[in-house]
Amino acid sequence: MNIFEIEQISLPIEGSEDRFPVNRVYCVGRNYAEHTKEMGGDHEREPPFYFIKSTDTLLANGGEVEYPPKTNNLQHEVELVVAIYKPGKDILQENALNHVFGYAVGIDLTRRDLQSEAKKLGRPWDTGKTFKQAAPITAIQPVIKIGHPNKGKIQLKVNSSIRQIGDISEMIWSVSAAIANLSTYFELAAGDLLFTGTPAGVGEILPGDNVIGEIEGVGALEINVI
Ligand code: MN
Repeated sequence: MNIFEIEQISLPIEGSEDRFPVNRVYCVGRNYAEHTKEMGGDHEREPPFYFIKSTDTLLANGGEVEYPPKTNNLQHEVELVVAIYKPGKDILQENALNHVFGYAVGIDLTRRDLQSEAKKLGRPWDTGKTFKQAAPITAIQPVIKIGHPNKGKIQLKVNSSIRQIGDISEMIWSVSAAIANLSTYFELAAGDLLFTGTPAGVGEILPGDNVIGEIEGVGALEINVI
């Protein structure tokens, strides 16, 4: 007997009545060389590292983001998101794409001031990365519809001016390499999402801003900060 109901968090699937139930939300840190430089890193290919956002950070496309508490520096990071459906651990890179159900456009919203303080003090990133509406995301585009995008423009505009621009082919760890590596740390499960990192140009957003993230061949995500 349940004393209360907990909703299974899920995302729409483009072109389908079915929904994608979300298990975990993994994120790769520093996966584009130019962004690594802007964040103060100097090595172009360090091993990937990960953090996790809670599933209740997900916000549907078109949503309004309430400016979060305890920050004076909310920042945008547009990212290609991978949706996993086939479970596995120690996945070989050559098999990794077989585990992918589809792709989405996401924004890894970050309380940069809290993240920077955590980095400086050697503390966890959670308060900087996991908060209400910290992961806006589009519907999942199934592989059967769009294939496996490995090149194409990724960009983010704030109030129509371009802030971030890059190409998903510039990822230091490709989708298949990131899945293979991630699966050595965690047994991947159906419903897992992987945010694959952001290109250069991250910056601040404020209440009143309109934010549009786009990835060629995947889709567009629009949010408004209130
Ligand atoms: Mn990110």
